[in-house]
Amino acid sequence: MKPAQSPEYAKMSQASAISLGLMGGRMYRGAVNRCVNLLVHYPEGCAANCAYCGLARKRPGTFEEKSFIHVEWPVYSMSKITAAINSAPDYIQRTCISMITNGKCCAHTLDMTKKLKQETDLPVSLLISPTILKKQDLVEMKEAGADKIGIAIDLATPELFDRFRGKGVGGPHSWEKYWEILAQGLEIFGHPHVGVHLMVGMGETEKDMAALMDRLWKRGVVSHLFSFFAEEASVLAERPQPPWPSYLRVQLARYLIEEGIAEFQDMTFDANGRITTFGIDTDHLQSIISLGTPFMTTGCLGSDGQVACNRPFGNCLPDVKQWNYPYLPNEEETTLIRRSLFMDV
Ligand code: SF4
Repeated sequence: MKPAQSPEYAKMSQASAISLGLMGGRMYRGAVNRCVNLLVHYPEGCAANCAYCGLARKRPGTFEEKSFIHVEWPVYSMSKITAAINSAPDYIQRTCISMITNGKCCAHTLDMTKKLKQETDLPVSLLISPTILKKQDLVEMKEAGADKIGIAIDLATPELFDRFRGKGVGGPHSWEKYWEILAQGLEIFGHPHVGVHLMVGMGETEKDMAALMDRLWKRGVVSHLFSFFAEEASVLAERPQPPWPSYLRVQLARYLIEEGIAEFQDMTFDANGRITTFGIDTDHLQSIISLGTPFMTTGCLGSDGQVACNRPFGNCLPDVKQWNYPYLPNEEETTLIRRSLFMDV
């Protein structure tokens, strides 16, 4: 019997499966995943070998066994998925298909996008794999009905990219190809429909990350922040998460840049590249911290204009201290953020 695989089947994040009612359970503080996060699925898996990724080719385990961002990804048929979307609660605002580095993946992602657009009313994002794409593929993705794309550049500098995704791990990815597809994606999808995933905690400085987010924003690209969170048995299994205060500062810098409140050049940094001032006065900064929104997950928006892709607990364990809040932080959490933000780590 042919194994369950794309395009007839897809993996779904556990948080999406719980939020759609396909799996039982309740998440910490009643969090819900407002996006149906799907992942293409093949028995042979992904051909790339990114050092931090649970799906990496050289990580032990079959593709069925491999987890991705720490959680289970149950496999469902696309028919079951579209039926679940059609009876989903109103808070579910978007579907996303994540590609992997596999030659069959582009054609199958197009098929799956068309099916989702024909059979459901939700907008569809694609988290694309630049290494296996050319410009015409992006045109066809838009024609198939996707309205947004995400590109997981992940690393803040070309050197780190090459070390963790390219030659350093015998992987196929190149920084130049990612930026070429990013530029073409912008031509085709336009602002604000192109987002970049960036991962904090890979050896970059806060200054590197702030400079990159500013550069991207000035080109019309939004940054979706992630924190490194080691995958068991991956090459970086022993690497710690980035210090929480450092992650909070990068989140705050992103918010200020993308809300047009401050730019990279207004901010100051110490000799280790840590952000020391954000380029606005203290009272204004404190009022922005109190909003709590700068510390929420950033991702593709839903048709209600709010972040749909809020990936609950995708890069940390549920706790008052979170590296991306999937909901507005409450008073206890905001107080903790304010106390920790300027800690010297
Ligand atoms: S941020 Fe957008 S592209 Fe990235 S995983 Fe979420 S919905 Fe997909």
